[in-house]
Amino acid sequence: MWWIGVAVAVVVSSDKVDKSKYKVEHHNKERYHITFRDGTRVETDKVLLPHVTEFYDEAYKYGINVDSINKNYIGVFVEELNDSKLYGITKYNDPSFSLINKIALDSYNITRIVVFHEMAHKYLRVEHCHRDCNGILAAVINLNLYGEKWEKQKEALFTDAPHMGYGRGK
Ligand SMILES: [Zn+2]
Repeated sequence: MWWIGVAVAVVVSSDKVDKSKYKVEHHNKERYHITFRDGTRVETDKVLLPHVTEFYDEAYKYGINVDSINKNYIGVFVEELNDSKLYGITKYNDPSFSLINKIALDSYNITRIVVFHEMAHKYLRVEHCHRDCNGILAAVINLNLYGEKWEKQKEALFTDAPHMGYGRGK
């Protein structure tokens, strides 16, 4: 019997994502705690968790000083907001938090965009971009960001002016 061994190198691009930056713990049925290395903690709902952690992974990748911004941020939560045109809202003041309207849970894609949009307000301290902006920070969100387009917009979110500098370094 002959066996032909085929060595398959599986390259996972996880080198860019440093999961040791935070710890995710199940708190109760719907809620998760994300604890950062400096002890700060952010809470989120189960349905938002993959998007919230994706945001953190990206933020660290681009050198955003996530931990220092966490201090007065309670977290990101699903809420039934009265305004049906409002997908999400972020409160800056102490305590600070983001609310994602239930209508944004209609699709994985929409939820992701809205979570990134709201968390960018907080972590990147960015306002909405000008009228012709078509990305994650558009006031009226373009809900058509999939695949390649999403990756591009995600990169733009963390690298474009005018928010360069905020939250970085010390
Ligand atoms: Zn906004």
